[in-house]
Amino acid sequence: MIFRPSPFRIFLSLLLCLSSARAADHLSNPIADPPNWKALAKYQKTITHDEFDQLLRGVYCSRGISEDFIRVDPDVACILTDRDAQTWFTLRFEKDERKRRPTPRPWRPAAALPRPKKAGVLSGLKIALDPGHIGGEWAKMEERWFKSGDAPPVEEGEMTLRVAKMLAVKLRALGARVSFVRDKPEPVTPFRPNDFREAAREILKSGGTENPREDFEARDDPLREQTVRWQSEILFYRGSEIRQRARRVNSKLRPDLVLCLHFNAEAWGDERNPTLSDKNHLHLLVNGSYLPTELEFDDERFEMVQRLLSRVYDEEIKIADTAAEAMAKETGLPPYQYTTDNVTKVGTSGYVYARNLVATRLYQCPVIYFEPYVMNSHEVFARIQAGDYDGTQLINGVERPSIYREYADGVVEGLLGYYQLARR
Ligand SMILES: [Zn+2]
Repeated sequence: MIFRPSPFRIFLSLLLCLSSARAADHLSNPIADPPNWKALAKYQKTITHDEFDQLLRGVYCSRGISEDFIRVDPDVACILTDRDAQTWFTLRFEKDERKRRPTPRPWRPAAALPRPKKAGVLSGLKIALDPGHIGGEWAKMEERWFKSGDAPPVEEGEMTLRVAKMLAVKLRALGARVSFVRDKPEPVTPFRPNDFREAAREILKSGGTENPREDFEARDDPLREQTVRWQSEILFYRGSEIRQRARRVNSKLRPDLVLCLHFNAEAWGDERNPTLSDKNHLHLLVNGSYLPTELEFDDERFEMVQRLLSRVYDEEIKIADTAAEAMAKETGLPPYQYTTDNVTKVGTSGYVYARNLVATRLYQCPVIYFEPYVMNSHEVFARIQAGDYDGTQLINGVERPSIYREYADGVVEGLLGYYQLARR
């Protein structure tokens, strides 16, 4: 399940960007890292005009891009680095596809891995598992917790960790070197909500709230987004937490592939009297489809260009499509259809979308973001209550395996499908 920023939140971010608080960098968030434009120098002559243009317009800026920020000419692309000084980074294209310099990257595509030993199709592949959210005592704050009647509560962060642990066993048996971005129901970030109270005040002030309320009464308080507590909690469990995970992935784990594991949900309303839905679906996400307003932020524009140039998409979309088909076969779920304009359908499976999420943007390697199952659908809720078990059980009249095993099996089948073909 993905945090959906409210219009109020987007409004605040934009105001923050336009405010005079940051004279040099126009950042998307008070805790965003400023861009390191010099890091793009290593990509000179690593891409042709046509490849760059295809990725830019087909995947990353599929919603359009203003020439005030990125211009593409036959020989070069110019990317705005400082809007006040009007300085630009110039990327030189290689004219001849056969002569382009190799792409510098810390991860290895399937074709660059050493030939698999007999031991396993995934031998040598470094996979980092990223169980979505924090869970445990943080689950309610994250709004990833609900409880229906006398049944035990449903916590996404606990469920994703459970899937990750099962998955690790199966992937290691196939030869993969598996690491965890998070391996317990605790934050990866060393910070806590109280550390962000000043940043929260800054955000609220930029949005025109000079004297914000400190606290809110209940989670259904319609004005809770305008309190210091709510803003500082978001900065903690989403902003700081995901950025800290990115540091861990990029500096320490350095995997060839990250799998972000989530369960989806439909709006459930009151967490203690949740609405159960008849809808159930599946989709996968890769990074892309930046909104024109997001590309105005220096950090997001830089991270988008860096991602494009590191050429993760070619590998990412092939893995995502294969994994989506395997998951669809395993779960029998139909594809989710977005009703918002912040995604672009990509690939051939019908299940994969490009979307600009913080995790898929910041992890510097191919990232596949899984969103199967609607946790508060009648069927999935019943399967969660049944827990983990061997074989099958009768759930609402249908014999079903444990939802956790089905999830893990789907992911494994998808990776096998891709790497078996790609490493032959
Ligand atoms: Zn989630």
